[in-house]
Amino acid sequence: MRDLQRETRGPVTFWSPRPLEYIFVNQRQLAGERCADVTTIEEVLLELGSRVELVPMDAQCNDASIALYSSLDQGERLFRPHSFSNKPGVAERLEHVAKTMAVLGGMVLDDHLRLKFPCGEGHLQACRRLFLDSVKLDMNDPIEPRPLSVDDRKTGDTILVHSNGSGEYTLSKESNEVDERNRLGVATLGLVKLGELEKCSGSENRIRFTCGVPHDELLALLLTRALDVRSAAREIDALASRGVLSAPSAQSV
Ligand SMILES: [Zn+2]
Repeated sequence: MRDLQRETRGPVTFWSPRPLEYIFVNQRQLAGERCADVTTIEEVLLELGSRVELVPMDAQCNDASIALYSSLDQGERLFRPHSFSNKPGVAERLEHVAKTMAVLGGMVLDDHLRLKFPCGEGHLQACRRLFLDSVKLDMNDPIEPRPLSVDDRKTGDTILVHSNGSGEYTLSKESNEVDERNRLGVATLGLVKLGELEKCSGSENRIRFTCGVPHDELLALLLTRALDVRSAAREIDALASRGVLSAPSAQSV
C-alpha cells in the first residue's frame, strides 16, 4: 500500500496502471485494508462501467490487453478505453486510441478519455467496431475520417453514401451500370447489421440511425466493412473467444 500512487484528475480519483493490477491480485485483502480517502477497486470499476469490447493483445503496446468500457452519465452513454496492464506506453496508447475513436467515429472526447456520440446514445455495435478499428490503425498513420464512399473490389465500381440529414442516408453507385449482383443491397444490409441502423420504408437503399442525428464519420467507418460483413462478424467472434483467456479481473466487468 505504501508504494501505491494515485493521480487525481478532476472530480474522480484514478489509480495509476501498475497499482491497479496489484490491487486486482489482492483486491479482497486490500479492500479490507483501505483507508477512508483511498479509491477502492469497486469505485474504480463503478466509474469505468461495463466492459463492452476487448483486445486481448495489442501488438502496438507490448501485447497489453486494452478494453472498451461503457457507463451511463445523466442519461448519456459514455465510453472509455482502459487497460489494467502495467506495461510501458499504456497511457500514451490509450490516449491515441481515444483520439482515433473521436476522429474516426465523430465522437466527443474529454480530458478523462471519455467519449460520447453527439446524440448521447450508445450505438453499441458500431462503437465496438470503431474501437477495434481504432486499435488496429497503425500508430504511424495519420488519423483521418474515412470518406463516404467505398470501392467495391468485386465489381470495380464505387458505392457512394449521401447524407439526407436527420441521421438518414442513401446509398448509390457511381456508375450507371445495372447492379446485377445487388451490391448496393449487400452494402445496405451490411450497414444495417454493423451499425444497428434501420431501413427506411419506401426505398431499398435508404437507411437511418434511430436517434435521428447524423453520424457521417461513424457511417463512413462502417462502410469500409459493409461489403464484407461476414469477415467482420468472424473477427468479433474470434476476439470474444480469446477474451475468455483474459485476466479474471477484466472478465467480471
Ligand atoms: Zn446517434
